[in-house]
Amino acid sequence: MNNLSQLETEARELELAADNRKALLKKVEHYTENYLENLPEATVYYNAGHQKGSILDKKLQEEATPIDELLEWYRQYIEKDGLNAASGGHLAYIPGGGVYPGALGDFLAAVTNRYAGVFFANPGAVRMENMLIRWLRDLIGFPETTAGNLASGGSIATLTAIVTARDAFGLKGKDFEKTVIYLTAQTHHAVHKALRIAGLGEVIQRDMPMDDQFRMQSDVLAKQIENDRQQGLKPWMVVGSAGTTDAGAIDPLAEIGRITADNDLWFHVDAAYGGFFILSETGSKKVNGLHLADSIVMDPHKGLFLPYGLGIVLVKDGHKLYQSHYYQANYMQDSLEAVEEPSPSELSPELTKHFRGLRMWLALQLYGLKPFRAALEEKLQLARYFYEQLQTLTGFEVASYPDLSVVLFRYVPKNQEPDAFNKAINQAIKKGGKVFMSSTTVNGQFFLRVAILSFRTHKDTIDTALEELNLHARELEEKGSLTK
Ligand SMILES: *Cc1c(COP(=O)(O)O)cnc(C)c1O
Repeated sequence: MNNLSQLETEARELELAADNRKALLKKVEHYTENYLENLPEATVYYNAGHQKGSILDKKLQEEATPIDELLEWYRQYIEKDGLNAASGGHLAYIPGGGVYPGALGDFLAAVTNRYAGVFFANPGAVRMENMLIRWLRDLIGFPETTAGNLASGGSIATLTAIVTARDAFGLKGKDFEKTVIYLTAQTHHAVHKALRIAGLGEVIQRDMPMDDQFRMQSDVLAKQIENDRQQGLKPWMVVGSAGTTDAGAIDPLAEIGRITADNDLWFHVDAAYGGFFILSETGSKKVNGLHLADSIVMDPHKGLFLPYGLGIVLVKDGHKLYQSHYYQANYMQDSLEAVEEPSPSELSPELTKHFRGLRMWLALQLYGLKPFRAALEEKLQLARYFYEQLQTLTGFEVASYPDLSVVLFRYVPKNQEPDAFNKAINQAIKKGGKVFMSSTTVNGQFFLRVAILSFRTHKDTIDTALEELNLHARELEEKGSLTK
């Protein structure tokens, strides 16, 4: 009994008293306020690689470390290292979000620690997540048979869709070598990865040719499916993209949808990046045809500007999603009694899950939809603005008109090797730390790439990007040969 009381005294340290909680929260709040206040001037990319030490040096130990010290470790080795993804100057890859109510939603979810995996455990949490799924369902025009899941990101959402499509077609090991999936070279690698994880690494992956705007040529697709059938193969699935990550290209979804319907194939649309543009006036016209898909993936941690950790999968025939993911366990038998709402745990690989719906709900309710629509429309217009302004600068050329908010371009130097020159521009801009861009390869050539999706990116950021490009291109031209 002595021992127990000693243990209790120590264990109770985990239960903070109100004063302690408030003091800790104040420190964290002070830190985050300071971070946000300084964010507009902060460097977008830190290269801390040469600094001494890292977070690895802060070993776990038996005794407590004060919060001030821990926040200092965080500042030095996490905040000021690598990409500052919360910055509006982040114009690389697909920029992230981090709207503040998203953080508050996570805070609320963690403090109350509601169990959002099973309806019976927290009906309200499950209703909230299902309401968000239904909102999205109606937005894209899916029917009431739809089911979906709030996953941790687009990759897991994609895996969930692929597994569902596999089971819906009853594909077994003996079929795989004859099964065909149709994609393009622009298809996100999350799809290839999901295929492999789902045991489908052996299926025939056909990269369909694209037009000069990086969009799948649907007439070729129709012929290829016909051909494959004649060869005794088993066409299974077509993956269309509503906004490719690389170029922001939108495949002809309406035409692909018609072809998949005619041929009884599964139509998956990867709308992880582009899907939420449906909320904007211009974007909704661009991403039409989403409703023809059998499954869709959309990333609120991209297009809804939420913090990392939220990707949604929707499956039109919700029963198929259930068939691939339900379970029965004796210890869960109590949960079977209340079935008013489908439970996330029966529609995804997860049992215990993060109550990630709360961050989305809180942000959408607190702001209302209006500012989200405006921000998405703004990003599309900024991409067009960048595309037009860039062409007024001497020496720059663009790859194609931006379908969404990604622009591919490069500088054509007077006498120097273009790939090395553009790499050098990119390096110089990164070093400057005002904006951060990435690059890609178009027809074997190095292209610079700007992706506009941070809610903190506005016209002044784009003007800075244009100035930086112009400045460094001139400087490098003046400096002369880089390569020799
Ligand atoms: C980001 C992205 C993915 C992968 O999603 P994660 O949320 O990063 O796992 C898949 N497809 C496209 C088109 C994307 O932009």
